[in-house]
Amino acid sequence: MPPWGWILVALAAGIVLGVIFWTISLPRLSAILSQTPSPELPEDLAPGWHAQCNKCGRTRTLASVGGIRLCGNRDATKATVGWCRACGGLRMIRIVHTDHLHESQTG
Ligand SMILES: [Zn+2]
Repeated sequence: MPPWGWILVALAAGIVLGVIFWTISLPRLSAILSQTPSPELPEDLAPGWHAQCNKCGRTRTLASVGGIRLCGNRDATKATVGWCRACGGLRMIRIVHTDHLHESQTG
């Protein structure tokens, strides 16, 4: 075998090992990710603020999804991209204050 042949062998072994590694670890990774709860922050860090999924309308307190919002403008419309557990996908998550939560659901 020529000297560069060993490089090919090493490359092939690396690819095979990588595929085996990911095949084994991906199900575990996804299981860990789905079981890991989102950080539960104290309500004081985002008083009155809610995160609402734009698609299914699921609403949680902003603190429970790990959000912090203090002294923010209550009339401002803010949105972020986040993972909705209810519909299982990346969605636009609206950040609304309790003052505007109910009117946004009806309107
Ligand atoms: Zn949703």
